[in-house]
Amino acid sequence: MSDIEKIKCLIIGSGPAGYTAAIYAARASMAPVLYQGMQPGGQLTTTNEVENFPGYPEGITGPEMMMQLEAQAKRFDADIRSGFITKVDFSSTPHKAWTEDGHEIHSDTIIISTGASAKYLGLESEQHYLKNGGGVSACAVCDGFFYRGQDVVIVGAGDSACEEAGYLANICNKVTMLVRRDEFRASEIMKNRVLENPKIDVRFNTEIDEVLGDGNVVTGVRMINNKTQETEEISSTGVFIAIGHKPNTDIFKDYLELDETGYIKNIPGTSKTNVEGVFVGGDAADHVYRQAITAAGTGCMAALDAERYLAAKEG
Ligand code: NDP
Repeated sequence: MSDIEKIKCLIIGSGPAGYTAAIYAARASMAPVLYQGMQPGGQLTTTNEVENFPGYPEGITGPEMMMQLEAQAKRFDADIRSGFITKVDFSSTPHKAWTEDGHEIHSDTIIISTGASAKYLGLESEQHYLKNGGGVSACAVCDGFFYRGQDVVIVGAGDSACEEAGYLANICNKVTMLVRRDEFRASEIMKNRVLENPKIDVRFNTEIDEVLGDGNVVTGVRMINNKTQETEEISSTGVFIAIGHKPNTDIFKDYLELDETGYIKNIPGTSKTNVEGVFVGGDAADHVYRQAITAAGTGCMAALDAERYLAAKEG
């Protein structure tokens, strides 16, 4: 595809925000085109059971929910495409975007729903065993299976870390959880589940000093107590990093106002960004709630705001 494609609504990203925006925009006859991005379905595809999305009394798996949202968007003829947007130009209207293979799209409205990605510690040894698939992972639900019956380490103290520690405890022999402060960040209920689980050994004030391995696979970690500076090595075949996320907003930074951690600043109470015709939904602008239901809600807002913007423009 070398010709410029002209559309009314481009949606970038395919989590609950993107799919919800697609459903609303398609039903409003905006013929939206949605690019799914690097992780079709978004972060929820790495989650196991979603128990808190209203309307699913028995719960639903993240991947299943995303397939249903995609099917719902397709039912209204939303154009859902695999592939991702690598470059944008919001300096004039219509706004421009390019896919990874150079296809150029001009769109009257853009809805950004690119979400966020897992953060890592930044240790060289961590990156080595992450890239080589040698035992470092940021997704217990995706990779926990490979460590069945083994000893693993998890880093983090938020709700994600607690959820993943519980998941790993069901599969693995033992889970050592490293918490860098002397308290959790997680909610009371999640924290208590961890503390009451006999298979999870929580080490407070403790961080990873080095991921140890034989060059190919992880064999353990050297931990450091950040109060006493004492180090200790434990054996472990898997290291799970669950320390939060970074918004996927790098390609927008030349045009959109971002906060100091990279989240897109929206005009409060709306999905509008500082650029007319560009809207945002989901975690790309939300470091506070970060839930599937809030992402879906703000995705809906983005589509409604885009529709109103178009209507006003077309007079
Ligand atoms: P959070 O930002 O809430 O927590 C990140 C955790 O990682 C913190 O405990 C932080 O420590 C720790 N951390 C950060 N950097 C490092 C580092 N370099 N070394 C060691 N530890 C580090 O992220 P989550 O992904 O856990 O949660 C994100 C949001 O999603 C939250 O709002 C959460 O409530 C929600 N969520 C809800 C769930 C549910 O309700 N079922 C499940 C999962 C997530 P410190 O505390 O010291 O800053």
